[in-house]
Amino acid sequence: MGDCIFCKIVNKEINSNIVFEDDEIIAFNDIEPIAPVHVLIIPKKHIDSMNDVDKSDERLFGKIMIVVSNIAKQVGIADEGYRLLTNTGINGCQEVKHIHFHLIGGQRLQKI
Ligand code: AMP
Ligand code: ZN
Repeated sequence: MGDCIFCKIVNKEINSNIVFEDDEIIAFNDIEPIAPVHVLIIPKKHIDSMNDVDKSDERLFGKIMIVVSNIAKQVGIADEGYRLLTNTGINGCQEVKHIHFHLIGGQRLQKI
């Protein structure tokens, strides 16, 4: 996807602080963290948003859910806990149109 900033991170055209990578998934530190730990977990495949995930993505998204706790352990937030969230569309305040999961922790978060 030509102009997608996260595809550029996947392709190493833009630097990022990578905390996990395999053939299908990459996770890197958010450039504007809202908590002491703020990691973005994304599929390398470009998918705009949750609205565009379909049956063919079942295995990939299962895998993403499984790597979350491994990444949380790796960045030291698993035991005390964290939040995993995805913003979708205008009302969800999604800015980057390449689906991503925010993994946020390292402090007590505001209850939602
Ligand atoms: P969202 O508002 O859910 O679309 O989240 C987009 C996130 O991407 C924001 O938290 C940004 O701080 C983050 N972000 C934007 N550009 C970069 C970048 N080059 N490297 C790391 N994080 C980024
Ligand atoms: Zn993309």
